[in-house]
Amino acid sequence: MKQRSADKVGRREFLKVSAAGTLGVLSAFSRAAEAGQQSMGQAGSVTDDRQTASSAVKLFLCGDVMTGRGIDQALPHPGDPRLFEPYITTAVRYLELAEEANGPIPKPVDFSYIWGDALDQFDCMAPDVKIANLETAVTRSNEYWPGKGINYRMNPGNIACITAAGIDCCALANNHVLDWGYNGLAETLRSLREARVNTAGAGSNLDEASAPAVINIPGKGRAVIFSLASETSGVPWSWAAAPGKPGVYLIRDFSARTVREFAAKVSAVKRQGDVVIASIHWGGNWGYEIPGPHRTFAHRLIDRAGVDLVHGHSSHHPRGMEVYRNKLILYGCGDFLNDYEGISGYEAFRGDLTLMYFARLEPASGRLLDLEMRPMQIRNFRLKRASSQDAGWLAKVLDRESSKLGARVEARDDHSLVLRW
Ligand SMILES: [Zn+2]
Repeated sequence: MKQRSADKVGRREFLKVSAAGTLGVLSAFSRAAEAGQQSMGQAGSVTDDRQTASSAVKLFLCGDVMTGRGIDQALPHPGDPRLFEPYITTAVRYLELAEEANGPIPKPVDFSYIWGDALDQFDCMAPDVKIANLETAVTRSNEYWPGKGINYRMNPGNIACITAAGIDCCALANNHVLDWGYNGLAETLRSLREARVNTAGAGSNLDEASAPAVINIPGKGRAVIFSLASETSGVPWSWAAAPGKPGVYLIRDFSARTVREFAAKVSAVKRQGDVVIASIHWGGNWGYEIPGPHRTFAHRLIDRAGVDLVHGHSSHHPRGMEVYRNKLILYGCGDFLNDYEGISGYEAFRGDLTLMYFARLEPASGRLLDLEMRPMQIRNFRLKRASSQDAGWLAKVLDRESSKLGARVEARDDHSLVLRW
């Protein structure tokens, strides 16, 4: 278990307070007006609403952050570019392909460059905790995992690109954290720890890998973040952490027994006022269909394991979402940052469009108060606000997919998206 208080000061603190005083309260008011008893309870009053809005836990979530390979080559301290892929043998080529597709990248870029317009969104939304799936090893190791084909690494000298966005917690149970062997994993964990970034999902044994990151949110409670992976996302079974063996927290299957085992881990940690997040790397890279076992598993995590939010990822594009018993399930958050700009294929899924998810939860119950999404586009290895046309396209697709799960997605005039349920 790792602990760190999320201390933010100065301008950020001011923006947080001002955002809570405007966006949050207004949002709670509008929801109360729209949803009546469903949103605010039978005895909902202006005072209660205001309290709910100010005490809400505000989470930022995104899918895969892949800052290795081509992006690593654009950052101030590029690592060894050698690759062991079937067709491309240097990471520099991914940088060149991106430049051929969309124009020059002003390399070396500074550490905050890659976050682009997302930084303004962080200031405006002022989340208490920011959670991402870090889809790369952070290492100088040359011990690539043989036979894997794709091996992502970022030089530890570039770790400041993660802290530049104030990411509080990196989920590591995924199919790339061990791409450069056990030494690579150890260096990844060490690099993040030294940068004071919380991690979950990988460790030097099963206890460490399955332990949650626990983040204090002053005046509100704690965010307890578990990170787990399924073989369906391409994690080799040999990567599973075990007693005395390093690796990732890999679940065997989506069975009731697995839920029971996970529930025991949650109940050992969860206390009143905690918001528990299960961050899970599952399923394939492309496609909208949500496998039945995934949905059942997500429901059981909420019903039987005390989970308040399911943060799913692995798909390269956002997928449908659901609110089940007042708890949010994101089945696939999509990629958030990657070096794929010069790679063709699967254009219909618009993998260049990514989403910032801002969820507000009531700490006492973990219920979802609202979910707002800000569409972005990856251009020149950087996030920029998506155009109104692209935001509209995403809204339509996500509304189509989420409506199958009982939720709706609406686009607002400012190009942000909101979930209705
Ligand atoms: Zn993955």
